[in-house]
Amino acid sequence: MDKLKRTKIVDLLGSGEFGKTVNVKGWVRTKRGSKNVAFIALNDGSTINNVQIVVDLGIINENEIQNIYTGAALSVTGELVESQGSGQKLEVNAKQIEILGTADPDEYPLQPKRHTLEFLREKAHLRFRTSTFSAISRIRHAMIFAVHKFFNDKGFLNIHTPIITGSDAEGAGEMFKVTTLDIENPPKTEDGKINYKEDFFGKETNLTVSGQLEAELAALALSEVYTFGPTFRAENSNTTRHLAEFWMIEPEMAFYDINDDMDLAEEMLKYLIDYALKNCADDLGFLGKRLQDEEKNKKAEERSPMELMEKLRFVLEDDFARITYTEAIDILRNSKPNKKKRFQFVIEDWGSDLQSEHERYLVEKHFKKPVIVTGYPKKIKSFYMKLNDDDKTVRAMDVLFPQIGEIIGGSQREESHDKLLKRMREMNVPEEEMWWYLETRKFGTVPHSGFGLGFERLIQFVTGMGNIRDVIPFPRTPQNAEF
Ligand code: ATP
Ligand code: MN
Repeated sequence: MDKLKRTKIVDLLGSGEFGKTVNVKGWVRTKRGSKNVAFIALNDGSTINNVQIVVDLGIINENEIQNIYTGAALSVTGELVESQGSGQKLEVNAKQIEILGTADPDEYPLQPKRHTLEFLREKAHLRFRTSTFSAISRIRHAMIFAVHKFFNDKGFLNIHTPIITGSDAEGAGEMFKVTTLDIENPPKTEDGKINYKEDFFGKETNLTVSGQLEAELAALALSEVYTFGPTFRAENSNTTRHLAEFWMIEPEMAFYDINDDMDLAEEMLKYLIDYALKNCADDLGFLGKRLQDEEKNKKAEERSPMELMEKLRFVLEDDFARITYTEAIDILRNSKPNKKKRFQFVIEDWGSDLQSEHERYLVEKHFKKPVIVTGYPKKIKSFYMKLNDDDKTVRAMDVLFPQIGEIIGGSQREESHDKLLKRMREMNVPEEEMWWYLETRKFGTVPHSGFGLGFERLIQFVTGMGNIRDVIPFPRTPQNAEF
């Protein structure tokens, strides 16, 4: 038979060219059959849906069909026909099957049954082959594309900010060191400290925790920019919402005040969710069903009141609630879980930081929609946030989402050189190291704002996945850097 060009399964399933000879390649999800005929569900990752391959056992030798198990890779040439069975509209009547790679069923870890997410994390090298992870991978891709499209359509420029950074102004001890020094035997200065002058860059360097400071430099010339890069945090928080390596989207805009900043954040989140609904319906449908099955095993009061797609649509319909930190504290202080001390961290005074349990209470119980909180106390926020006239609060804004808590953190930036310098001194930010940042406030400074959206938290929300380790292919968390 002539070499036929491979058709992707997604394209095949969308076509109706019955009678045509086609070639498909992929991995076996399941094989079942009878004496004379086998049915193989084949998937190539282009869609959540499998194509059914019907194999008349006359066309293939017995040894060969024995080698076709879940996980094996096949190249199938056959005729595209209308399906007789229910559940699919078409199938391929195999004329020729080539086994590209076998998968010994005694060794292959993925069997055609539901595996736990914990088990699959240990098989991250193979979990792309499950329906759940292929769906998440396609949604993740669609969201990456949509982020770039959103900003491109608005005329923002994508800026690559450095991954290795020489400043730790933002890191506050939660950074990963980058060095080529011999750590067993580092060069020392006269007073016994490590001599970083002999290190690769001639100074201490770390992996970045954020591209913001450099993005600000670009915004103060190009007006509207964004970064979309990896960020690294050596915080030892083993939660379902924290990774040591994650991707962040950070727009930074000249001439935007805090209200413009909030408008952009809300518009962007809605755009991305709408994009997923419009372009990832099959995958969302699958993940929604998966979640519903999971919910059945939960206690009634822990069940989510909304189905996945319903939850996504719900975010699009309403304006986000916008409140100040002070209002949030009042609501929380008077809330039932606070009075009954059911919060792990009971809110007592103005000034305490909001924990994720508080954020989720505001969103899920009180407002029943996403909430943007502004005007946080200056002492719990970063040095670069613009100080309000009360001298107590800053123009910060956090966007809080159901299930996630904080999904975006942003602010209007302090554009006054003197106020910025004062805040840096108060907060022990090394001003000598930050000379370049300070200079932008000396030369042509303007009001400007920006925010950071944690990409994996967005994917968690869109896919409904409970653990952030399941929305990035190879999660990096404390004690875990396998694969
Ligand atoms: P949190 O309080 O939830 O730890 P943060 O206030 O430290 O977050 P920011 O520094 O404001 O986070 O970072 C901006 C965004 O990046 C957050 O709103 C969140 O979506 C995301 N993010 C922060 N830390 C992590 C992490 N360790 N893993 C994944 N995403 C993160
Ligand atoms: Mn934050």
